[in-house]
Amino acid sequence: MKHDLHSHSTVSDGTLSPAALVRQAADAGVDVLALTDHDNVSGIAEAREAAQTCGLTLVPGVEISVSWNGHTVHVLGLNLDENTPILQQGLEQLCHYRAWRAREIGRRLEKQGISGSYEGACAFATGALVGRTHFARFLVAQGYAKDMREVFRKFLVSGKPGHVPGEWAELEAALGWIHAAGGMAVIAHPARYKMTRSKLRRLIGEFRELGGRGLEVVSGSHSKDECFTMARHAADFGLLASAGSDYHGPENPWINLGQLPDLPHGCDPVWNYF
Ligand code: AMP
Ligand code: MN
Ligand code: MN
Ligand code: MN
Repeated sequence: MKHDLHSHSTVSDGTLSPAALVRQAADAGVDVLALTDHDNVSGIAEAREAAQTCGLTLVPGVEISVSWNGHTVHVLGLNLDENTPILQQGLEQLCHYRAWRAREIGRRLEKQGISGSYEGACAFATGALVGRTHFARFLVAQGYAKDMREVFRKFLVSGKPGHVPGEWAELEAALGWIHAAGGMAVIAHPARYKMTRSKLRRLIGEFRELGGRGLEVVSGSHSKDECFTMARHAADFGLLASAGSDYHGPENPWINLGQLPDLPHGCDPVWNYF
């Protein structure tokens, strides 16, 4: 069975609609797919319907933006009931913040002589929110950078003109929303945070204390070594292991659907507990 428990649609910053994403995953041989749009669950109904027609199991999910000790951390909520009011209200606050932040990014870029980026980013966003990825696509299309990697490095990360320090959900609140919706919390792409080993382990420990269940051991953005390191952390903390491509569409620089490596030996897969 092929599991991919992390993917994005046009509802957040992916380039395929929820239905097209599900069809592409099924064609690529994925048996179980989680749709985990950023801070939004409005694509799940469409994905679920598409999954029924192509014989794929859809896991309803979300990727929640969290601020923790000066870092932005992404927490996946897997196998949840997306119609839970506590979850929806929490995500609504985050989307409000995103709407303000998008205008603020536009204002900051304007000061650097880049005009019309807010409107430009909106034109790339077909879903419920405007994120940095939409600004990135606009800036690349306008020739300000040659590709996504460069545009983030030059404009959209900490210390650069288009960066707004995030004020996202608190870790405890995010886990509360996920648990209220009956879901399991998993730390997304843990090797992507620029944290020391001891800080990452502090995060994992706090997450575990709050009832978090898993680490995304295999990620489309992890090297082989990083997968093994994260498998060790999961085992040390008694956490389950998840695997997700973090697919954002066919232009994705990381990995294609259906191509995820297996979990390292000894991992306890999160999907055995759905
Ligand atoms: P946001 O949540 O709006 O701040 O945007 C975060 C998103 O930007 C991530 O989920 C990725 O999709 C994308 N992203 C972040 N860093 C990079 C990068 N270096 N190259 C391409 N996409 C990136
Ligand atoms: Mn994204
Ligand atoms: Mn993420
Ligand atoms: Mn993601």
